[in-house]
Amino acid sequence: MQNRVKSNLEEQENFIAKYDCNKCRDTTYILVDDEAVPCSCKEVRRAKKILAESSISEELFKKTFDNFDYSRNVQTIDSYTVARNYVKDFDKIRNS
Ligand SMILES: [Zn+2]
Repeated sequence: MQNRVKSNLEEQENFIAKYDCNKCRDTTYILVDDEAVPCSCKEVRRAKKILAESSISEELFKKTFDNFDYSRNVQTIDSYTVARNYVKDFDKIRNS
C-alpha cells in the first residue's frame, strides 16, 4: 500500500514537472471567476521570446553596470552616468 502511495506521488510529480508553468499548464491563461485571464508567466514568456530573437549573446548577459569599466575617458563616464540614472528612474516608474 505504501509503495502504491509513493508511486502515485511520483506520478504526480512527473506530471507537474512537465510544465514550465504549473499555474496555467503552459496555456498562458488561467480561469478567474470563469473568465480567462493572462497568467503571470505570459509576459515573462514574451520577454524571453524577444530576448531570444534579439541576437543578444550569452556573453552580453554577463555585462552589468557593476562590472562595466567606465574609467576610460570622460565621454564614457558621462554615458555611464546617463544610462545608470535612466535605469534608476525606469525602476522607480515601474515600481510605483
Ligand atoms: Zn502560466
